[in-house]
Amino acid sequence: MLSDWHSALKRLTLIFLALLLAGWLVGAPALVVLAGTIVYLIYHLRQLRRLYNWLRDNQNSEPSPPPEGRGIWGFIFDGIYLLQRRERDALTHLRSIIDKAQESTGALEMAVVMISSKNGLEWWNPAASRLLGFQSPKDRNQPVTNLVREPQFITYYNTGHFNSPLKLSSPVNPTLMLEFQITSFGEGERLMLVRDISQLHRLEMMRKDFVGNVSHELRTPITVITGYLETMLDDRQNIPPRWGRPLEQMYQQSQRMEHIIRDLLTLSQLETRSASKQLSAVQLQSLLRDIKQDAEQISQAKKQIFKLDCDPDLYIRGNINELYSAISNLAINAAKYTQPGGSIELSAVRNANGLRITVSDNGPGIDAHHIPRLTERFYRVDESRSTDTGGTGLGLAIVKHVLARHGGFLDISSKVGKGSQFSCQLPADRVLTAEQATARAKTD
Ligand code: ADP
Repeated sequence: MLSDWHSALKRLTLIFLALLLAGWLVGAPALVVLAGTIVYLIYHLRQLRRLYNWLRDNQNSEPSPPPEGRGIWGFIFDGIYLLQRRERDALTHLRSIIDKAQESTGALEMAVVMISSKNGLEWWNPAASRLLGFQSPKDRNQPVTNLVREPQFITYYNTGHFNSPLKLSSPVNPTLMLEFQITSFGEGERLMLVRDISQLHRLEMMRKDFVGNVSHELRTPITVITGYLETMLDDRQNIPPRWGRPLEQMYQQSQRMEHIIRDLLTLSQLETRSASKQLSAVQLQSLLRDIKQDAEQISQAKKQIFKLDCDPDLYIRGNINELYSAISNLAINAAKYTQPGGSIELSAVRNANGLRITVSDNGPGIDAHHIPRLTERFYRVDESRSTDTGGTGLGLAIVKHVLARHGGFLDISSKVGKGSQFSCQLPADRVLTAEQATARAKTD
């Protein structure tokens, strides 16, 4: 390449020297050099025109071989041709990758939707048309929230928190239950994956109904059995002595069953009933005071020390019965599992994320590896300890559900031999001051 350039320069110098010599011989060097320069320019202009014509003809078609050229022009023609071929090959490769990606997503059962940074639909596969009713090309660049209009979806989409998926029925076929999962990528673009979970949803509903129905059906027979056992035990003097102990054990077990059924029914109601829209402003201090009194009553014989620390100005927007059930579960657990004479504290503080209600104790504590599993149904750290205290293994599952229905979560920290803290974290939009609570009561 460099040699092409050097030989072109060398040739040019030789031509000019020859022209000068010829001009000197005929006695008109300037004229001869001028004539030579004009011929040289005409040659290069012709080459430029060939290049121009070739590029123009190639603009919209497959690159044709370049015109024949010698020296530096030959190198330029071949070089441009090579670059054109390379670009065309790269483009073909890219197109085949895009075709393959579109073909494979097209065959997916799952809807795949690409959303631009301006929230308009950019691309979607056939499953998206089937599950969400998107029509091509009519809906291209339409805002996604104009096409999936469910308020739940709009809130989910606008908040931008996509840690957990959203379950919603299909906007075109209400019998289909869909799961929406969104991820952000690039510069504000989003990828939305939508899965048909109707079958799973039906099974889940069947499971919930089954647990609810079985618990409901078992409640009456167990109440009758417990009632008869209680009456028999009240009339102990007329029972043969060898029946005394078995009857007591039967009574204890039937009571345990009653508690399990009660907790299963509570859980089933929390799962199947949607969260109430009619929420009241609950004064936290009086709620915690009632719970403290109940727990004190239960643990009377253990002589435990109960403390309460809560600002009387704190109010919470929520379902009072559900909140009572959740926090009293924590307080009763603390009383149940803490040794006689131990101390238990109920407190509530505002923090950066909203409100934190904590039940702490100086009881036996829980080993770290149990903590992530504590809210699972029937999970117990120590089977014997839990059955001794009449536990059902469902209390913390109820707490978790109630908090989720209030937009919050349960945070557990514990040290073996030192004690445990069970904290209910609730979002800021649930917290009210006394003034806000009074204003709310007036408008309600
Ligand atoms: P249970 O009805 O058995 O108390 P929960 O779901 O309320 O069921 O609690 C699950 C398990 O967590 C209990 O079996 C117990 O081992 C443990 N646990 C709960 N609270 C405490 C506490 N304050 N201190 C120690 N262990 C606790």
